[in-house]
Amino acid sequence: MLKNIALKIHRNPELAFQEKKAVKILTKPLKEAGFNVQVGLAGMDTAFKAVWENNNNKNKPKIAFLAEYDALKEMGHACGHNLIGTIAVGAALALTEVCNELPGTLMVLGTPAEEGGGGKVIMADQGIFDDIDAVILCHPKNKTMTIRDGLALVHVKFKFYGKESHASVAPEKGISALEAMINSFVAINSLRQFVKDDVKIHGIINKGGVAPNIVPKYCEAEFLIRASTLEELEKVKLKVYEAVKHAGGTVGADVEIEEGLEYADRNNNKKLANLFKNNLEKLGEKVSPPPKIGEIGSSDIGNVSHLTAAIHPYIKICSEDIINHTPEFKEAAASKKGIDGMIKAAKAMAMTGYDLFYKDGVLKEVRREFNTWEAKEKGGSSK
Ligand SMILES: [Zn+2]
Ligand SMILES: [Zn+2]
Repeated sequence: MLKNIALKIHRNPELAFQEKKAVKILTKPLKEAGFNVQVGLAGMDTAFKAVWENNNNKNKPKIAFLAEYDALKEMGHACGHNLIGTIAVGAALALTEVCNELPGTLMVLGTPAEEGGGGKVIMADQGIFDDIDAVILCHPKNKTMTIRDGLALVHVKFKFYGKESHASVAPEKGISALEAMINSFVAINSLRQFVKDDVKIHGIINKGGVAPNIVPKYCEAEFLIRASTLEELEKVKLKVYEAVKHAGGTVGADVEIEEGLEYADRNNNKKLANLFKNNLEKLGEKVSPPPKIGEIGSSDIGNVSHLTAAIHPYIKICSEDIINHTPEFKEAAASKKGIDGMIKAAKAMAMTGYDLFYKDGVLKEVRREFNTWEAKEKGGSSK
C-alpha cells in the first residue's frame, strides 16, 4: 500500500500550495484507520492534521510525524517528497496498529510547500507546533544520516526601475534597469570575500529587459541568502541590501527589495536523533556521520526546530553521486531502492515514536535537551 501511495504522488507532481491530490492520497488511509483528519490548516488548503487520540489521555505527550509532498518546478519529485509524506503516514499507521491505546496523542502534520513556500514557517507562526513535544521528518538522500545542519535562509527579490528610451537613437534619455541589476550581481560577488565561509548568496535573473533596442525599464533578480544562524543572516542580509542599493544607484535606477520568508537554522535534537539512529541500525541500516564541511542546504524544518524538539534525518535511496534536485534523483524517488529506503525509514520512525511514548524517561531527556537549548538561545540572543 505504501509503495502505491508513493508512486501515485510521484506520478502526479504538484507545486507548492497546490498539492491537492497528494493530500487526498495521504489522508485517505489515515481516515480509514481512524485518525481524525482535518484538511486545511493555518490558512493553507493543502496543509493537514491527522490526529490519533486516546480518550483516556487526550493531551500529553503529543508527538508529530511530518509529511512533505510538494514537487519542484519543471522537475517533478526530484527531491523525493513523495517518499517523505508516505514515510510519515506509514509510520503513523504502523504505530497505531500495534499500539491502539497510545498513552498520548500522535499526529501526522501535512506541511506543504517546502520548496520555497515555507509551509512550516506559516504553520509555526500560527502556533501549530506550540504544544507538540517532539517532531520527526525523514528526507530521502544519497546517504543515511540522522544529524545534519541546516543554514538559515532568506528569499529575496530585487526589483530595478529605470526609464525606457531608444537604445541607439537616444540612450542618454534612458536609465537602464539591466545595468543596475548587473552592477548588483558584481557588487554581491565583491562581498563574497568579506563574509564567513559558510555564507551562501546565489541568484537568478527573472526579468532582463524586453528587447535589445529598448533601454530596459524594469528588471528583476531573485536571490537566496544563507548563513549559519539567523543572527548571522541578519548581518549578511544588510550588507547585501546595501550593496544592491548602491550598485543600482550608480546608473540612477531605483531599487526595491522584496523580502520573503526566512528559514531558521536547524537545531538538531541529538537525543532524538540518537533514538532514530539506534532504530535504523536495528533494521540493518548503515548510518553515516554528518558531513564535516559543506553539503548543507536549508529547510523550513529549521523554524520548527526552534519551537520544539525536532529531527530531520535522511534515508539513503541511491548511490552517493546522485544529488537531490536532479532528474536522476527523481528516478531514484520511484525506484526499488527508493521504496525500500522509504519502508525502512517508516519503520524507524514508528519505532522512535514507540520509544517516545513508552520508554521511561526518554521523552523527558529529549525535552530537557530542547529546553536547555531554548533557555540558552533566549538568554544569549538580543532578539
Ligand atoms: Zn529540495
Ligand atoms: Zn527536499
